[in-house]
Amino acid sequence: MMENNELDYLMLSGIQHFKFCQRQWALIHIEQQWEENVRTIEGQHVHKKADKPFLREKRGDKLIVRAMPIRSHELKTSGICDVVEFIQNDEGVELQGEVGKFVPIPVEYKRGKPKKGNEDVFQLVAQAMCLEEMLVCDVNLAYLYYDEIKHREAVVITEEMRSEVRNIFQQMHRYFNRQYTPKVKPGKFCNNCSLQNICLPELENTISVRHYMERYL
Ligand code: SF4
Repeated sequence: MMENNELDYLMLSGIQHFKFCQRQWALIHIEQQWEENVRTIEGQHVHKKADKPFLREKRGDKLIVRAMPIRSHELKTSGICDVVEFIQNDEGVELQGEVGKFVPIPVEYKRGKPKKGNEDVFQLVAQAMCLEEMLVCDVNLAYLYYDEIKHREAVVITEEMRSEVRNIFQQMHRYFNRQYTPKVKPGKFCNNCSLQNICLPELENTISVRHYMERYL
């Protein structure tokens, strides 16, 4: 028996769009405005290395699992973890087909360099919360890898972050259930938005370009 109707679940990666701009998230996830450059936002080519479904690789005391499907019934979300490193540790959890106990550490691969905003961090926290629920354990450490600096940054996961992720998903579900797309609130961040072509012409239909430019500047 299915515990929840998983058809209601939102894409986990949407949390990064929602943190960046709620309207961007709604255009992508409610209005299905997928453009080629939206996929670029996702940095798919960076994921190529990680996208070998369920590849398990053992390196010493580390088990590396790539493209691992994850979900949370609490958050009502599902997605894919680029990489989960399972580190052998007596305080960890048992894994099917493996001897010993392991602590899971999610690693998310990103294009470019670390962003000013914290959208990548919250995506990673959501992944950690999925793993906590699925494996019944704590996930207190995770990593963001940026291809431009070829370096991974450690993220220590706190209760405040988990609580914020819960709030964000509640808000996303409320918007999704109402099929609500927030109105345009332009800012400098729009310069980094790949949906400008979709978002802004719509804006021009509702207010004059001059008015928009005055507000924008
Ligand atoms: S152009 Fe600006 S307001 Fe519109 S979706 Fe992008 S970031 Fe949001």
